[in-house]
Amino acid sequence: MKIIIGNWKMNSPSKYQAELIQKLQKNNTKNKIVLCVPFTSLSRKKTSVVHFGAQNVSQFTGGAFTGEISAKMIKETGAEYVIIGHSERRLYYKETLKQIRQKVENALNVNLIPIICIGETETEKANNETLKVIEKNLSVCVPITNKPIIIAYEPRWAIGTGKTPTKIEIKSVHEFIYKFFKTNHRPIPQIIYGGSITGQNAKQIASIKYVDGLLVGAASLKTETFLPIIEQVK
Ligand code: PGA
Repeated sequence: MKIIIGNWKMNSPSKYQAELIQKLQKNNTKNKIVLCVPFTSLSRKKTSVVHFGAQNVSQFTGGAFTGEISAKMIKETGAEYVIIGHSERRLYYKETLKQIRQKVENALNVNLIPIICIGETETEKANNETLKVIEKNLSVCVPITNKPIIIAYEPRWAIGTGKTPTKIEIKSVHEFIYKFFKTNHRPIPQIIYGGSITGQNAKQIASIKYVDGLLVGAASLKTETFLPIIEQVK
């Protein structure tokens, strides 16, 4: 069983949400499906097939932080997951590794499963710094814990661009992440890939060794593009 996570970003196709959930229920997929929806759509109750997550969480736990949403508040909606450190948060909101670490700790403290996004920029890739970036993020952002966590390898240059790394590149980064936990005698998290996943590449990418699932952005917004991904991944 793989985990397939849809990241709806700041899109709220609420009519589609009901239709998609209905189709997924009928689909009897063995994969676990998580929809990371805007905060305002989080109150929908999970079904036997579809689970819910948020896309961000405050680094603070409560108090005078106008506009922020705490991990406890997300948990109270019934959501089970939260994306943390997505490249758009790093780019547009200048999230630092320390802030990401704090957010992960806050999520774990209320038993939300953090989906921690890490990946290199195009320049870092060109400079052969991918594994260095991955190691730094794993060391700083991921606390030692026995609670479930998900690491999403999302090359920042692959998000929303239609470009994806080669099979060999994906395998080598996922294997590196796997070994980081293994050699440090830490529980192995689920390691998923994200960035320009479509119905055309989902099957091949999900079958790569050490790939436990997919994080899907744009293609998760419509039944016609999301269902084929779910159906092809075994
Ligand atoms: P994309 O986005 O699938 O549209 O590239 C992935 C993501 O942002 O998680």
